[in-house]
Amino acid sequence: MRHACVFFHAHPDDEALLTAGTMARLAAEGHRVVLVVATAGEQGLAAPEAVTGGSLGAVRTRELHASARALGCARVEFLGYADSGLDGSAVAGDGPTPFASADVEEAAGRLADLLREENASLLTSYDPAGGYGHPDHVQVHRVGARAAEIAGTPVVLEATVDRDLLLRGLRLASKVYPFPPEFDARTFETAYSPRAAITHKVDVRRYAQAKRQSMAAHVTQATGGDSTRTLAALLRIPRPLFRWVLGTEWYVQRGLPPGRVLRDPLATLTDECVG
Ligand SMILES: [Zn+2]
Repeated sequence: MRHACVFFHAHPDDEALLTAGTMARLAAEGHRVVLVVATAGEQGLAAPEAVTGGSLGAVRTRELHASARALGCARVEFLGYADSGLDGSAVAGDGPTPFASADVEEAAGRLADLLREENASLLTSYDPAGGYGHPDHVQVHRVGARAAEIAGTPVVLEATVDRDLLLRGLRLASKVYPFPPEFDARTFETAYSPRAAITHKVDVRRYAQAKRQSMAAHVTQATGGDSTRTLAALLRIPRPLFRWVLGTEWYVQRGLPPGRVLRDPLATLTDECVG
């Protein structure tokens, strides 16, 4: 039976920075790649001039589909929760529940249904810190872990960034390219994962073009505020440095023996899981 690799993210554009290269690589290698986002990202900061033809949620939904096309995804699904906002301040109203305050069991049930339907052999989620700590991202970690448990998905990779490399890259880049004054590299000192925790280091340099297209598809986010300025700053980086910083994607698979760094995102799958 055909298997699928399911990439679970909080908001449209999270896939671009964290897993786009891995998605493009797996799709190019003939695997079925499915992108699932918990929310439409309607609380994201965005340049008003970039939001045309509908609400921000509707625009970001279109942007996500464009990104998915660039990466070769076979399917895009929304879990249907509301974006909790950067500080988790969105409160439940008449509309959908903010993802950060959603019932983990219920949200995991929705994702597990999709994992079963797709015969997923791989699910990606986030590290327990939720990367830089957005409450929706922390929830992706919880919901992803539980959904895989319910569905019996054999491999869960927590998408992260090599914090040691990120801090070094930001220091180097800041010497050459002026980051906006409100961009504070120190906020990354507790973000993502230390190098010692990383189990998978995936070379995605060959897919830099697809990754760049995925990022560029998120037009509203390249010009917004706060965390999204990271994306804007990265997009201003000339190609050689862009490739250096973004040519690798990192994952943590819980329970693997330490000290071994795998290069293939599917390395820990047994043969019968890869149909
Ligand atoms: Zn996000």
